[in-house]
Amino acid sequence: MRPTYQVTELLGDGIGSELSRAVHTLAEALPVRLEFIEIDLTLANRRARGQKIYDEAVESITATRVALKHPTATAEESPNAILRRRLDLAVIHRPVYTIPGVPTNFRRELDLDIVRIATGGTYDDPGRMIGEDGAVSLRIVERRAVREAARYAFNLARRTGKRVTSSSKYTIQKATDGLFEQVAREVAGQFPEVPHGIELFDALLGKVIMAPEKFQIVLVLNEYGDFLSDMACGLAGSLGIGASANLGFDPAAVVRVALFDAAHGTAPDIAGKNLANPTAIFLALAMLLYQLGEISVGKAVKDTTLDLLRQGVRTGDLGGNESTESFTAAVAAEVARRLRPQEVAP
Ligand code: NAD
Repeated sequence: MRPTYQVTELLGDGIGSELSRAVHTLAEALPVRLEFIEIDLTLANRRARGQKIYDEAVESITATRVALKHPTATAEESPNAILRRRLDLAVIHRPVYTIPGVPTNFRRELDLDIVRIATGGTYDDPGRMIGEDGAVSLRIVERRAVREAARYAFNLARRTGKRVTSSSKYTIQKATDGLFEQVAREVAGQFPEVPHGIELFDALLGKVIMAPEKFQIVLVLNEYGDFLSDMACGLAGSLGIGASANLGFDPAAVVRVALFDAAHGTAPDIAGKNLANPTAIFLALAMLLYQLGEISVGKAVKDTTLDLLRQGVRTGDLGGNESTESFTAAVAAEVARRLRPQEVAP
């Protein structure tokens, strides 16, 4: 009997249906059974069902605790923003690493796990004018959010043997960033085996470019995480190929719900043409498997996808000849081969 897990799958627009088929094909090749509970978040259904479809999505994700989301067209509303708010997804984990076969201007290897607090910083307050010639906005840092993100980062480090760098401008933003670093240090104290360093954020940006091997897990406030993610993706040349985990926590700071998605959008220009690259959604699926505790299965999905890219098995957007279906079939066959139980010699 294959271990069985229920997963909420949020269906999307454009290439979403092709990506969903690719995920199902790959899932069939795994030694675990993923029972997908589909919620239709296509624009047509969102327009027809309104808030009800979000109620169903939230109910399902709360029950299954893990979700895989396909890209959705942003029209009247942003489904990502609604889900983040309704599920209280407080932390975004974005791994960014050099992907073989993806063209980049950067010649060094990069392998960063960016753990970003998804709320607060300067992003919760659009600010206001003071008279005609000045403007002000609030910068918000909350102990609970920092603690949740820090515990997630240090747990990740404990599992993977990596080190954590917390980064901010605590020398200037003494109250806000000072509180962030204070909480990060407190949490670091509970993980004595995990190396913890502190870097000023401006210095970190330069150092990631000059010596990327010095950084592994980076813990940052909301806007710094936004800047760092895009810079790192640009360095890795993989703006559209990465995936993220969006995480919500219970009061004990344990992951309560986790929603995984690809960084790219719905690619309407290639929708329905069997051209979509499923790499990002496969990497999102790998993260979901890690979250389920299926570490070796998740690792096989990630490593196989990257190994095939390295070997030149690539879709057209990366200069290859594979279609969505042929790339998916190649990944599924290789994952199944790698995870097949070893036959014992008689
Ligand atoms: P996009 O990422 O959809 O497309 C940008 C370019 O990258 C296009 O040329 C597209 O063909 C290509 N591309 C993207 N994903 C690809 C893949 N998997 N394989 C091969 N090529 C791929 O960005 P856009 O055109 O700015 O946005 C289109 C729609 O997607 C918009 O409605 C936007 O709001 C939405 N969007 C959704 C999400 C999300 O749901 N997470 C994220 C970004 C954009």
